Amino acid sequence: MWKTLIRTPLSTFTRKTLTQSIYLQLLEQTIPQLQNQPLYTFNTNQRPRVSKNPQFHSIRSSELTGNSYGFCSSVPVNGTSCCWNCNAQKPLLICQSCGSVQPVDHSVDYFMIFGLERKFDIEDGSLEGMYKSWQKKLHPDLVHTKSKEEREYAADQSARVIDAYSTLRKPLSRAIYLMRLEGVEVDEEQTVSEPELLGEIMEIREAVEEATDSQALKKIQSQMEEKLKHWSNCFANAFGSKSFDEAIKSIQRMTYYHRVYEEIVRKL
Ligand SMILES: [Zn+2]
Repeated sequence: MWKTLIRTPLSTFTRKTLTQSIYLQLLEQTIPQLQNQPLYTFNTNQRPRVSKNPQFHSIRSSELTGNSYGFCSSVPVNGTSCCWNCNAQKPLLICQSCGSVQPVDHSVDYFMIFGLERKFDIEDGSLEGMYKSWQKKLHPDLVHTKSKEEREYAADQSARVIDAYSTLRKPLSRAIYLMRLEGVEVDEEQTVSEPELLGEIMEIREAVEEATDSQALKKIQSQMEEKLKHWSNCFANAFGSKSFDEAIKSIQRMTYYHRVYEEIVRKL
C-alpha cells in the first residue's frame, strides 16, 4: 500500500484506468487502510527513495520557496494564484468564493492542505478530520455536474490529498518531506559508516532472527519504538534549529530502526 501510494499517484489511475465506481471504492477504503497501517511500516525493499523517484511528491525546488497568496496578479504566480473561474484570491484546492475546484498547485504544500504549520510535531488527529473533509468535497458525486476539466481537477486534488495524508501521518516520511521542502534531499540508501551504530543494528537483527516466540519479538519491537521516538525528537530539535546535518543523521537512524521494526512486523 505504502509503495503503491508513494510511487503511483492515484491521479494516474483515476484519470486513465479506473472507472468511477472503482475510484469511489478506493477512496472509501483509503482511510481504514491507511489507519490500519502501523505508523512505522515500510519494508526494506519497498521504502520510498525520495531522491531517486521523481513521482514521489512532484515538487520542484523552485516551487518550494513560498507563494504569495495575498493578491491576484494578472500574471499567475506559481500557476494558480487566483481562482480560474472568479479570480478570487487564495483558492487553495477549492475556491472559497465560487466553489470551483482548482487545478493542482504544487506551491501549496502538504502542510498547507491540512492547515498545519510547517513543522515536525503535529497533534494527534489533526490530519484525519481535514482529510475526510477534503475527500467529501472532492468526491465524484459532488462534482459530477461540473465540466470534464473540473472533474479531472477534483480527481487530481483528491489523489494529492491522499498522498499528503499518507506522507504526513508517518514520522519518517514526514521528516523526509520536511527536509525536501527545505531543498534538502535525503538519500536513504547512503550507508552510515559508524561502527557503533552498525554493530548495534547487527546485534538487534541477530536477536530478531533468533527470537523464537512472539513475546521476544514484541519486546524488541517496543525497543525499536523507543528508539524511533528518541530519534524523532532529535530530528524535531535539529530541524527546528535548522541543523540539517543533524536532522539527516536522525533520519538515517530512524531508517535503520524502521527496517528492523518492519522485519519484526513481518515475522509476527
Ligand atoms: Zn472562484
